[in-house]
Amino acid sequence: MNSQYDTNNVFAKILRGEIPCNKVYEDAETIAFMDIMPQSDGHTLVVPKEAAVNLFDLSEAGAEAAIRTTQRVARAVRQAFNPDGLSIGQFNGAAAGQTVPHVHFHIVPRYSDQTLRGHARDMQNPDLLKAHAERVIAALREQAA
Ligand code: AMP
Repeated sequence: MNSQYDTNNVFAKILRGEIPCNKVYEDAETIAFMDIMPQSDGHTLVVPKEAAVNLFDLSEAGAEAAIRTTQRVARAVRQAFNPDGLSIGQFNGAAAGQTVPHVHFHIVPRYSDQTLRGHARDMQNPDLLKAHAERVIAALREQAA
């Protein structure tokens, strides 16, 4: 498993503000945004800001921050989309399905009557993605109130 960090990976560019994302949450250690090729409606990614390729490279503090944000955002996704279930996923290495070499956690709502769409396959309509982000942001706001 190659742990050499590529500073030009797509999430590094998002973290530097060089390319846009549908951000739903940010704090000092983490950011969360909608997956651009969602496997289901509400598919959200949590990305630690630390420059780490995978879980093994992430510091303990980074891992703690990541799981804290994952729980917080997953609660909001659950409230916003009311799925039948919700998977949390994290892939290490291409052989495990990792396509972006910056550690991240997937929050994937699961609907009993739908099969998951392909992993990193079809781009979502940008307006729909924005609307989904707004639903998660509203739920986060309610939870903080
Ligand atoms: P993984 O395969 O676990 O590395 O997951 C990477 C995820 O990032 C996939 O689900 C992709 O759909 C998603 N993705 C790739 N590029 C972007 C982007 N620019 N904005 C948001 N999500 C992205």
